[in-house]
Order: sequence, then structure tokens, then C-alpha cells
Amino acid sequence: MTSYQAEREQMVANQIAARGISDKKVLEAMRNVPRHLFVPEEAHRYAYADSPVRIGSGQTISQPYIVALMTALLQVESQHRVLDVGTGSGYQAAILAEIATKVYSIERHAALAEEAESRLESLGYENVSVHVGDGTRGLAQYAPFDRIVVAAAAPKVPKALVEQLADSGRLVIPVGERFSQHLEVWERTGGELIKHSGIPVVFVPLVGENGWG
Ligand code: SAH
Repeated sequence: MTSYQAEREQMVANQIAARGISDKKVLEAMRNVPRHLFVPEEAHRYAYADSPVRIGSGQTISQPYIVALMTALLQVESQHRVLDVGTGSGYQAAILAEIATKVYSIERHAALAEEAESRLESLGYENVSVHVGDGTRGLAQYAPFDRIVVAAAAPKVPKALVEQLADSGRLVIPVGERFSQHLEVWERTGGELIKHSGIPVVFVPLVGENGWG
């Protein structure tokens, strides 16, 4: 069975480094995680293409560049505890787990969560826990988080996520309309929140109490 190592190197060089992402930890993580094992078998050969891939339950694994960009914008450090909202395939969680000490990932579809959990376990990611639930409410029992990343689009930033952000914490989330959003980066310093708005993106909707009804 092919390991797709060459495809992965090309993906990092042509899609990620070439577009200006230079964070070594991010590039290294993108080189290490076997992305093809996060998509259905019949899609293995599309896994390293410059596009999202369908993963079932009407959901997609984000385009490699977007995963790299979100991870770079988060500025994840090795001692961080990270909340990943929208586990999907578990790919973003694996990328984060390559860098951070602990990743908590939450997914509303039980079937996707179970599949992601066993995939991450079989790949040896012992620092990721997968939870089933409404990620717009965060994961209060494990808060605060140094970093929070949301892989589905919200009409506005869910209040619970801001509340569960540690001091000096960062939150990366697509915010906007149903079919077009901007990647927003929020930074908490003391009681203050500073927003840096980013590039236009299109994500599947964040469905939940503080998302799309
Ligand atoms: N990070 C994923 C991409 C997943 S796509 C990956 O790397 O594969 C977005 C995911 O968010 C979908 O799986 C969808 O079911 C999930 N989602 C949508 N609303 C959610 C909510 N309120 N709580 C948790 N997960 C949610």
C-alpha cells in the first residue's frame, strides 16, 4: 500500500509553503499526518488535491491550505490545550495533536465522532479526546482552552467559546452568511477581545444552540 509520502511533500510545497505559510511546526505536521487515511478509501487518490473532500454525513474535510492556514493563525505552542470544534474526519485534530500537548475535539454527528476517534487511536494519537455534542456550547468541563478552532461557519462568534478561552487565548472561526464567511481571529488579553478579520472562506454551517438553529 502506498504511503503517499511524495504527494504529501508536494502538497506542502505547492499548496501551503508556496502560498506563504512558513510556520515550521505547521509544515512539519502537514507532512506527518497521512491525510488519505482521513477520507473514504475510494477518495484516497484525491486526498492531496488542492480541494476539500467529502467524508460522509454531508460533511467535508477542509482543503489542505485552509487547515494549514487555520493552524498557523492559531499560533499553537507545544504546551497548549486546544479545543477543536467540528471533528469531522479528525484530520484537523491530528494536525493540532502533532503540535499541542492536548486536543479536545467535539462533533455533533455521533457516527463521524466514533469513526474519527477510532481512526485517531489507530494512528497512535494518544493526546486527542473526541466528544459528541453541540460545539457551539464549547466543552465547559475542560475549559479554559489556550486555543479554539472552529471548522464550521457561524452567524456570529458563540459566546460560550469566548468564555472558555484562556487569557492570551486565540480563537479562529469562520463567521458570516450561510454561504460566504470570513475567517476571524479573536485574541483575548485580560478582559479584552481583539478581532482580526481574515480571508473570505466557505464552510459548512455550524448547527447548534449558538450557531445556525
Ligand atoms: N475539522 C474537520 C472538518 C469538518 S467539517 C476535519 O478535519 O475533517 C465541519 C464539521 O463540523 C462537520 O463534521 C459537522 O458535523 C460539524 N459540526 C457542525 N455543527 C457542529 C456543532 N454545533 N458542534 C459540533 N460539530 C459541529
